[in-house]
Amino acid sequence: MLAVQICEPKKLRQIDIPEPDQPGPGEALVRTHRMGICGTDVSCYLGKFPFFDFPRIPGHELGVEVLAIGDGVDNVKVGDRCSIEPYMNCGECFPCRRGAINCCMNLQVIGVMTDGGLCESFLVRASKLHPSEKLGYDQLALVETLAIGCHANDRGAPKAGDHALIIGMGPIGLATLEFARLTDATISVMDMNPQRLEFVERTYGITNTVHFKGDGSENERMMELTDGNMYQLITDATGNKHSMGGAFQYLSHTGTLVYVGITNEEVSFKHADMHRREATLMASRNALPPDFTRIIRLIEDGTINTDPWVTHRTHIDRVVTEFDGLTKPESGVIKAIIDVT
Ligand SMILES: [Zn+2]
Ligand SMILES: [Zn+2]
Repeated sequence: MLAVQICEPKKLRQIDIPEPDQPGPGEALVRTHRMGICGTDVSCYLGKFPFFDFPRIPGHELGVEVLAIGDGVDNVKVGDRCSIEPYMNCGECFPCRRGAINCCMNLQVIGVMTDGGLCESFLVRASKLHPSEKLGYDQLALVETLAIGCHANDRGAPKAGDHALIIGMGPIGLATLEFARLTDATISVMDMNPQRLEFVERTYGITNTVHFKGDGSENERMMELTDGNMYQLITDATGNKHSMGGAFQYLSHTGTLVYVGITNEEVSFKHADMHRREATLMASRNALPPDFTRIIRLIEDGTINTDPWVTHRTHIDRVVTEFDGLTKPESGVIKAIIDVT
């Protein structure tokens, strides 16, 4: 059976792997129809992601079909179209016992720490499948990306009367925006790339855009947008240490800063900038099971339109040669989808 593996930094190859066994108790056998390519996959490909060992079959943003189920499985049936919650938690550690399974101490994310879905079929814990009768496989493959933004938005919990800023309009920032715009807060977005800001204005009608040039003009624009109070909530989705460290200066006093992007590097800031504001700093990691259910419902009822998301496509037969081009920011990619069937 065909699979594609990242075998070493900047190298993919097609491999032949054994057909999976029939599902055991609590398991499902699924066929991959679509895989979304994510910033994590790109970091793994470039050899920059922690906890990633070569070789590895990528794929954690997946739209799959249930082919068979094992004993005791009652949340899905054969033929169901599903999204996968790719975070395999242990169920026993301290955060798992407290319900914070998104940050399990023994977390195995499929496609990152273990082999993922860029293959014809594989076995998965059935409890991690989230079915929809209405959504197509492209939409199902987008649910996990959206879930990252859903959880980040829940962490910051923007309220009526708040000015909230999202920094970085890549897929994670856009995903956060999808949920922030459903709250009663007033949303601003910042990016260094004016095309991304135009995209957000055109697609979501957000006019509070801030073009980051690093020359202080962004501060003036923010003062103007917030009546001089700056932001009660900032979500940094850049994964850039300079942006993450610098974000405190855009916070209002008593404000909250959420880091949803990840960097391997040290982030530094003047403690006085945090102290003076009595600021709160939070991380946001992965997402929780109810986020998947909620997102599926929001796409089903049209609250979230996934059409603008998919900008590029490739196929499992061509991905070995086409992957590199899809990792380049200049390709203008928001989300590239791999057709596996
Ligand atoms: Zn992802
Ligand atoms: Zn755990």
